[in-house]
Amino acid sequence: MYCSVCGEKLALVVHKTEGLVPFCKKCGEYRFPQFTTAVSLVVTNRAKDKILLAKHLGQDDYILIAGYVKKGESAEKAVTREFKEETKLNVVKFKYMSSRYHEPRNVLMLNFLIIAENGEVVADPDEIEECRWFTFDEALEAVRKQSVAETFLKNAVAELKNNKF
Ligand SMILES: [Zn+2]
Repeated sequence: MYCSVCGEKLALVVHKTEGLVPFCKKCGEYRFPQFTTAVSLVVTNRAKDKILLAKHLGQDDYILIAGYVKKGESAEKAVTREFKEETKLNVVKFKYMSSRYHEPRNVLMLNFLIIAENGEVVADPDEIEECRWFTFDEALEAVRKQSVAETFLKNAVAELKNNKF
């Protein structure tokens, strides 16, 4: 770990409320670990009996629609913006579900369950090869196994089956 300001090697120092935190001796300041934040969307239709999954360019399996939260933007805003950008559809309703930190990409994923407005999905050709609706069982079968997306999808399907959304 190195200081993001001066490049000095960081040492772990006890912070009075946060425990061990990386500290730059040269700057004399704590450098809290940085990570990016993204929203991950489990998308259902108005009838709440289908799930929309996306196959990204160059990938073989399906994952959830997801995107980074921009600096200065709320997670809620990122949900509606990202969904509109990737499908050209609006979000009718959404609910925050849970979050997971994804180590390989150093990103905190915030999962939302959303209802999409009726209409044709026009997938963003720069990011998505194919976007389609699945039944709950088909979606659980098609989603990338052992992925954060699979965990989020399982939680959301359980929520939908219990009529909690
Ligand atoms: Zn420094």
